[in-house]
Amino acid sequence: MVTNDNHSLQVKALENGTVIDHIPQGVVQRVLSVLGLENCEEQIYMGANLESKKMGRKGIIKVANRFFEENEIDKIGLIAPTATVIEIRNYEIKSKTQVRIPDVVHKIVKCFNPKCITNKESVPTHFYVIDKSDLKLRCHYCEKITGRKNIEYK
Ligand SMILES: [Zn+2]
Repeated sequence: MVTNDNHSLQVKALENGTVIDHIPQGVVQRVLSVLGLENCEEQIYMGANLESKKMGRKGIIKVANRFFEENEIDKIGLIAPTATVIEIRNYEIKSKTQVRIPDVVHKIVKCFNPKCITNKESVPTHFYVIDKSDLKLRCHYCEKITGRKNIEYK
């Protein structure tokens, strides 16, 4: 269930689960989809256009009873580099992780080159991040560069 009720989002505490905070404006939906949360059975609260002292406007996602692995946190880092991932256990903050853009990106992203072997055969994509501020990924196979403009997530 996805609710957009900003009021309950702020007052309702999570017993166990994950809060993804400080998501840049406009990418909340993409974070949900890349984490496969769109079809998740757990309760999800999400909010967009929330006021943030740090960022002006931000988005937030709270998922009950879900915790994310390092490779999932890396996915969040690619899409929402300002995000913080907060793990809640028993109503208490267990850990807080500032996401980062990984050095190597495996599988998550599609190579934009239609002739690349990863688009023709069932070879998983593999990229080296050569520019983190502008997000440029060099394909291990065809060496073409997929950038923020033409990035597609798998
Ligand atoms: Zn390629």
